[in-house]
Amino acid sequence: VAAEAGVPVAVDNTFASPLLFRPLDHGADIVIHSATKYLSGHADVLGGIAVFKDAGLYGRIRHHAVEQGASTDPFAAWLTLRGMQTLSLRVERQCASAADLAARLAGHPAVAAVRHPVLADHPDRAIAARLLPDGGGGVISVDLAGGREAGRTFVEAVRLASLSVSLGDVKTLVMHPASTSHHQLDATALEAAGIGPGTVRISIGIEHVEDLWADLEQALEKAV
Ligand SMILES: *Cc1c(COP(=O)(O)O)cnc(C)c1O
Repeated sequence: VAAEAGVPVAVDNTFASPLLFRPLDHGADIVIHSATKYLSGHADVLGGIAVFKDAGLYGRIRHHAVEQGASTDPFAAWLTLRGMQTLSLRVERQCASAADLAARLAGHPAVAAVRHPVLADHPDRAIAARLLPDGGGGVISVDLAGGREAGRTFVEAVRLASLSVSLGDVKTLVMHPASTSHHQLDATALEAAGIGPGTVRISIGIEHVEDLWADLEQALEKAV
C-alpha cells in the first residue's frame, strides 16, 4: 500500500534483530535498530543503526545525520562490532529460553496472561510462525493476577534478573511499565497501549534456564 502511494516504509527491528527478521526482504525501505540492545548485547553501549534499501535516500539522510552530529563514538562502535560476533549464539539461547519460560509462566497461578509470539494463544501466532521461523525473540510480557502491587513486588523480588528498562542484554532484565516507562499514562491510556497495571516485561538473557526459572518462581511467590 505504501509503495503505491510512494511513501517509504521504515521498520524498527530492534526486538527481532537481523538474526530473526530482515525487513528489507519483506518490502521495507529503511530498517532501524537500537544497537543498545541485541546488537551490542551487553548493556554497555548507546547506539543506533539505520539500513537503507535505496542509496539515494541513504545519501540524503546521511547528509542530515552528519550535519546534526548523529555519529557513534569509536569505543561504542568497537563494542557494538565485538558484541555482534556473539549475536547468533546469544539470540538462539535467548529465544529458546524465552519460549520455554513463557510456557512455564503461563501455567503459574500468580500469572493471569503471558504474551510471546510462539505461544499457541497469541493473537498473531500464525503471522509470527510465517515471519519469524527461527524464533519469537527473547522478550516476554506477563500480566500478574495481583495487579499493580504484584507487578512492583515482582520486579523488586528478582535476584538473578535485574530491574532495568533496557532489553537484549546477556543478563535477564525485568521492568514494570505502569510505574516506570509508561507512568505518565492514566488507566485508559495504559489499556489502549495494551499494558495492564500488573504487566511486567521480561527480557530473557543467557543465564541457565533452570536458574532463571528458580528466580522467576521465587519472585512470583512473593507477588501473589
Ligand atoms: C530502546 C529502543 C529504542 C531507542 O534506542 P536507544 O538506543 O535507547 O536510543 C528504539 N526502538 C526500540 C524498539 C527500542 O527498544
